[in-house]
Amino acid sequence: MAVGEHRPTRLVIDRQALRHNIQTEVKRLKSDCELFMVVKANGYGHGAAQVAQAAKDAGATGFCVAILDEALELRAAGFDEPILVLGVTRPEDAVLMAQARVSTVVADLKWLQEASRYLELTHHNRPLNVHLGLDTGMGRIGFRTTDDLKAALNFLGVKVDDFNFEGIFTHFSTADDPDDTYFKQQVAKWQELTAVLPFRPRYVHVSNSATSLWHAACNDNMVRFGVAGYGLNPSGTAIPETPYPLRPAMQLVSELVYTKRLHAGESVSYGATYTAQTDEWIGTVPIGYADGYERRLQGFHVLVGGQFCEIVGRVCMDQLMIRLPQNYVRGTKVTLVGANGGQQITLQDVADYCGTIHYEIACGFTSRLPRHYL
Ligand code: PLP
Repeated sequence: MAVGEHRPTRLVIDRQALRHNIQTEVKRLKSDCELFMVVKANGYGHGAAQVAQAAKDAGATGFCVAILDEALELRAAGFDEPILVLGVTRPEDAVLMAQARVSTVVADLKWLQEASRYLELTHHNRPLNVHLGLDTGMGRIGFRTTDDLKAALNFLGVKVDDFNFEGIFTHFSTADDPDDTYFKQQVAKWQELTAVLPFRPRYVHVSNSATSLWHAACNDNMVRFGVAGYGLNPSGTAIPETPYPLRPAMQLVSELVYTKRLHAGESVSYGATYTAQTDEWIGTVPIGYADGYERRLQGFHVLVGGQFCEIVGRVCMDQLMIRLPQNYVRGTKVTLVGANGGQQITLQDVADYCGTIHYEIACGFTSRLPRHYL
């Protein structure tokens, strides 16, 4: 997709904010606990390589991604740190991962057996680093019984030339919930499963942002820090208090490219769903659902000159219209996410309006939007 450098719409990413959030967390961690920054999905839309660099500067010692290609992208950008792929990879890619020193999550014995066939066929010069995933209640991937886990551990014990048992982990599904009943059940399951380990691998990790912020006692020797690093409260608004103020790193801004006087009775955009009741000023903003600014944001607002302006009529693929309190010149700044004239629109506000979470909004912004870095 072409990047819209000749259009005034852009995501502005504040690297100082990223560093602040990550550095503050690194300082809170116990001295033997490392922070791996989660930079999957293009760094939650913020730009994977730029976030990785900011995280490294702030004290992160490794990275987590979702898919192998994201790991290879970081290697190509020159990052030498440990990188863990959190999603299930293909056993066929075992050799590639070993060569690139990319660690992978493993969710069952069958995967190890298949991967070992590929590794045995090749003259690889280093074993593949694997982290065994334990499903303690997330219900997504991982070993669920001590018998299955023991079988995998035995296999790894035999295949030491092919695999390095580098880590073990789980993922909590309700760490951002004020009710910790289910969280505690997962902790108990984690303890039951890990009791069969013959030794502790290099990395033992259970914490995403929410766990590290609100259940820090559970952190072992590594945390997988994601959304809070970007300055977003992992709970949305369920737990308003975070141990330190998070600084959102992402702003979305544009400019008015066209304004006009609409007369009472005249309509705006597809379907003519909005009709002016009185004469009013309407501005056009060059952003739409092809940029990840969702169509259902009709009726929401943006900021112009410190004033909230309603999005009127349907959001188009590339443009949307807003009702202005007065006429403004072309080039007047429009803030869709961020602060403007003492007012603010957060990703949380956008997410609330769309009936979703800020994660989805942030990583839904498409590559047509240029990312500018402060
Ligand atoms: N660990 C795993 C396994 C994940 O899937 C994710 C994100 O989805 C994270 C850590 C980071 O979570 P968060 O962004 O909430 O910190």
